[in-house]
Amino acid sequence: MDLVYTPEQIEFRRKARDWLKENVPGTRPSSREEAAAYDKAWQRRLHDGGWAGLNWPKEYGGAALTGIQSLIWFEECERANAPAYGLMSIAQTHAGPTLIARASEDLKAFHLPRILRGESLWCQGFSEPGAGSDLASLKTKGVIDGDHIVVTGQKIWTTGASTADYQELLVRTDPDSERHRGLTWIICDMRSPGITIRPIETMMGESAINEVFYDEVRIPISNVVGDINGGWSVAMSTLAFERGTTFLRDQISLSAKVERAIDLARRTPLADGRFAIEDSAIAEKLAELKAEGLGHRAMAVANVSNVDRTGSPGPEGSMVKLLVGGTYKALGEVVTEILGLGMLDYDHSRASNPWAYDFMNSWVVTIAGGTSEIQKEIIADRVLELPRAR
Ligand SMILES: Cc1cc2nc3c(=O)[nH]c(=O)nc-3n(C[C@H](O)[C@H](O)[C@H](O)COP(=O)(O)OP(=O)(O)OC[C@H]3O[C@@H](n4cnc5c(N)ncnc54)[C@H](O)[C@@H]3O)c2cc1C
Repeated sequence: MDLVYTPEQIEFRRKARDWLKENVPGTRPSSREEAAAYDKAWQRRLHDGGWAGLNWPKEYGGAALTGIQSLIWFEECERANAPAYGLMSIAQTHAGPTLIARASEDLKAFHLPRILRGESLWCQGFSEPGAGSDLASLKTKGVIDGDHIVVTGQKIWTTGASTADYQELLVRTDPDSERHRGLTWIICDMRSPGITIRPIETMMGESAINEVFYDEVRIPISNVVGDINGGWSVAMSTLAFERGTTFLRDQISLSAKVERAIDLARRTPLADGRFAIEDSAIAEKLAELKAEGLGHRAMAVANVSNVDRTGSPGPEGSMVKLLVGGTYKALGEVVTEILGLGMLDYDHSRASNPWAYDFMNSWVVTIAGGTSEIQKEIIADRVLELPRAR
């Protein structure tokens, strides 16, 4: 691994910086519908500027960036305060790549350009009330009826369901099957009759996540990705893309937040009148978080180099997810020591107190996309190749 940027990479950074300087939009609105429109418009602008589908192949309209170029791009996005994918995240970072890897040419031709142009939002319908970490125990059933699959059941924690156009939906199509056999990965049009969406309000005061109920929802069999009853391996590709690439920018944003916390500690007096940074326990914790950020970065560089070499994300993405989640939580704890009761000043919107929002959101990072405990299992099993306990 060469940590010195090549002249081409330096030139790439300059090009990204110049484009972002001209194109970064204003603040993202907080209402769900307006935020969806904003995320779509940003994606359209990225598309028109040649920055859509960062690591998708050129033949599918992607920018075909290497992992290192993606990392440089995200660093420049952070520097320019450019929006994250927001509600476009699922479409861009795992639905699209899964379709590229596993879908029919017809499905690719229909969906990929729409995703790249910011015309369709996606959500992920994997988790159920009794099937989260243990995804293979899912029960939502899909009954084959002529050229349709008729879906009945319930999903939960579906981020962005109310604004999504399509869903990556995992159902049990073989009623006699056990565990991961007999599942099918299918594209569900979220406006199909028989779908009911019920928002769940989080402690942050948002309602981006939902329960989704399916009452005999008819989905054409042509929407199946991979094989009928062969959906488990497609779902594993989706999760590998999700864990492999989604957290690249998170690790960069987190380091920027640590820098802002250091600045906050320099400006904020404690009850005894000293600035928080003069408290050696606080200063030490902030220094640790800064060092952890450098460690995450080194790991992310190693991971993207690996993806560049092998062509697909490996289980190492789980390490970045696990460690970034831990640092994010620890950052919230030290900021609570700095701000004291000020941390409680929160009126159900991110803008009212971004520090309190981040602290509450740090729990999300340790649960969504697979809990920290599950990431540890993956690391033990697939990275360290430790013997299984059971
Ligand atoms: C904000 C948010 C957004 C989400 N968005 C989506 C989405 O868009 N689409 C979607 O499909 N899902 C989504 N999820 C669901 C998420 O993937 C699950 O919540 C997660 O996988 C955990 O499943 P669970 O909630 O059923 O908890 P459980 O699996 O019941 O876990 C409960 C606890 O037991 C621990 N545990 C379970 N099994 C083991 C084990 N084998 N070893 C050690 N510990 C274990 C877990 O780590 C956890 O601490 C979202 C969740 C959240 C919180």
